[in-house]
Amino acid sequence: MTYEKFVQKIQELGLEKYRADQILDWIYKKHVFVFEQMTNLSKQHRSLLRENFCIQIPKIVSKRVSSIDKTTKYLYELPDGNTIESVLLFHEGYATACISTQIGCPVKCSFCATGQSGFVRNLDAGEIVSQILAIEKDSKQTIRNIVYMGMGEPLLNYDNVIKSIKILIDKKTKNIGIRRVTLSTVGIPEMILKLSEERLDLNLAISLHASTNEKRDQIIPINRKYSIQEIINAAKNYQERSDRRLTIEYILIKEFNDFDEDARRLAKLLNGLKVFVNLIPVNSTFSNFEKPAKWKINRFKEILINSGIEAEIRYEKGADIEAACGQLRIRNLLSKQL
Ligand code: SAH
Ligand code: SF4
Repeated sequence: MTYEKFVQKIQELGLEKYRADQILDWIYKKHVFVFEQMTNLSKQHRSLLRENFCIQIPKIVSKRVSSIDKTTKYLYELPDGNTIESVLLFHEGYATACISTQIGCPVKCSFCATGQSGFVRNLDAGEIVSQILAIEKDSKQTIRNIVYMGMGEPLLNYDNVIKSIKILIDKKTKNIGIRRVTLSTVGIPEMILKLSEERLDLNLAISLHASTNEKRDQIIPINRKYSIQEIINAAKNYQERSDRRLTIEYILIKEFNDFDEDARRLAKLLNGLKVFVNLIPVNSTFSNFEKPAKWKINRFKEILINSGIEAEIRYEKGADIEAACGQLRIRNLLSKQL
């Protein structure tokens, strides 16, 4: 619920406006999720709240902490029995949460464990926001950055995702700076244009992964509907409106999209855009794709840089706990099947 809506609801119940601030302080700052424990409220108010609201935080069913970099992967169970995951990682020393927006994903990219696990349903705004609260309570870390890069395609669950962002940036709730929010999308042009209209100025990351439509069609089925050029045009529009630098994600797959020609074509595509390219050697735990050799990855980066495109190689975090996209859930599903 947004702050305004919550204020309205409690006023309808006869509570004063400042009570909303007190309650949200318990939830978002002190991580107290039971009205009974909110000791600055009267007994009568507490029972009124209990009768009219519920604070639902997903139940952690599994947690794995990387011994390499302290990345922590959470698997939650929702009241309907479905499972979702989020990851706590440390980026430049700051706690960052990678959160999910859907159960599974309808886009079905061939390299992605989430995509391969099928699509069940969208998460609602509360299920998205409460992942942050569950992580903070368990880890005792204050989340500073949020990346919408967990399970699911955020722009195919547009309304709930936008609502969750508006809740998280509200000063009365989590109070996250919008510039610390990143949304990663496979690239749905009309939704990127819609996002431009929101004037939210969040960081947009586009999962491009190929430099020709012919190659992209092979790994991202939805590319047959939206071409690379349409995506780039929409991204350009977003960038001009928000004046934020775009991130382009490019997973490197051995002998598929790692050729010099790919790097040159990619540089040409991005020419004129204010971009930063993240090169991610593909995580191959649940697919047949392989990472290119290190020298090949470095060469790809050099070609981009020599063409005036900023690029960095991102080695995965939490490699020992399979913290990459969708992997814990699929492991859990597999173990249920076995
Ligand atoms: N649906 C959105 C956000 C979730 S996926 C998107 O596709 O952008 C988050 C990121 O993980 C995407 O860039 C996606 O391409 C990447 N990813 C998925 N499977 C991967 C794998 N096996 N190895 C490396 N990156 C992967
Ligand atoms: Fe969905 Fe993103 Fe995975 Fe593709 S990479 S299947 S869009 S979650």
